[in-house]
Amino acid sequence: MQQFDYIRAVDLGDALQALGGGAKLLAGGTTLYDLMKLRIERPEQIVDINHLSELSYFDTSGDRELVFGALARMSDVAADPRLVRDYPAISESLWRAASQQLRNMASLGGNLLQRTRCPYFRGGEPYACNKRHPDSGCAAIEGLDRGQALLGASGACSAVYPGDLAAALVAFDAEVDVVGSQGARSIPVEELHREPGDTPHIETTLAPDEIIVRIRVPATPLGRGSTYLKVRDRESYAFALASAAVALVMDGEVVRDARIALGGLATRPWRVRAAERLLIGRRFDEDAARAAGEAALEGATPGRFNGFRIELGVRTVVDALTIARQRA
Ligand code: FAD
Ligand code: SF4
Repeated sequence: MQQFDYIRAVDLGDALQALGGGAKLLAGGTTLYDLMKLRIERPEQIVDINHLSELSYFDTSGDRELVFGALARMSDVAADPRLVRDYPAISESLWRAASQQLRNMASLGGNLLQRTRCPYFRGGEPYACNKRHPDSGCAAIEGLDRGQALLGASGACSAVYPGDLAAALVAFDAEVDVVGSQGARSIPVEELHREPGDTPHIETTLAPDEIIVRIRVPATPLGRGSTYLKVRDRESYAFALASAAVALVMDGEVVRDARIALGGLATRPWRVRAAERLLIGRRFDEDAARAAGEAALEGATPGRFNGFRIELGVRTVVDALTIARQRA
């Protein structure tokens, strides 16, 4: 790891000033230090925001929205009783991620901004990677693509966005509030992560000097009938091969409202409104769930070794809908 200067921010203004000078933000450090040790991130300065208490709170009691400071810890939020009862998809997306030790350290803001686990990206200099070095090529094209994206990939990059929380937030139309040198603004979480296109090194719509201060989730009856189902190589401490955040509101046997977002399959969190529309106004049964699952994976493009994840994705959506139906 290269030498760096450590700055402890005492307020947001401090953090913004350091960011403007090219520093990298440090929250839980569970991703940043990893990438620094791999020499993928090489900041000359890091600015520690852990003492900004205004970013550490969360409040799930509001009638209009749930509010999560960017520094709220994954484990604290996952265990919140109101979230567990009324928004199980959000709680499950957190406690099914990483390990208990990591969740104790890791923040929601840092979770949203984690980078891909593509092995050629993390493998470092022996491998060509457009994300690490623009226009240098992509080792995954001729490589092992079992874990690569089936949706949203480009000729330049097929790296999966690996986070679990973002899929659940996208399903509930959440927004992030950010501040930067140009002032404050809100960004729908669905618009926070970019598809790679020709510029896979530009991963989000955040400006380099912007800080996420909080995440807001509109209160909705969809929360009660929701789940986050994650399928992986082992049941703990692994990233998703396929995952689905789904939510249903039922009127008897008929679906009144539906949300479906995929994780682990695409280059960004992947909301699938076409699949939602197939369900709304229809009687919920096995055929309806299967049709929605197939619509959710519409356009999925297999490579050499990852084609099995299309049917896995369909079945993940079907199973998630079945769980949500029981809760709705
Ligand atoms: P940091 O490492 O501190 O920061 C991450 C990035 O976000 C940095 O670039 C930092 O500058 C930036 N940042 C942090 N806060 C802000 C902010 N407020 N505004 C702007 N930029 C900010 N995640 C999953 O979702 N599912 C998993 O299954 C999973 N498994 C994991 C397994 C392992 C072994 C490891 C190491 C990680 C795993 N993770 C998983 C990722 C883990 O959840 C993230 O490392 C963690 O959430 C990042 O949060 P942090 O606070 O530690 O972020
Ligand atoms: Fe890099 Fe993307 Fe290719 Fe992986 S898929 S090697 S991250 S360019």
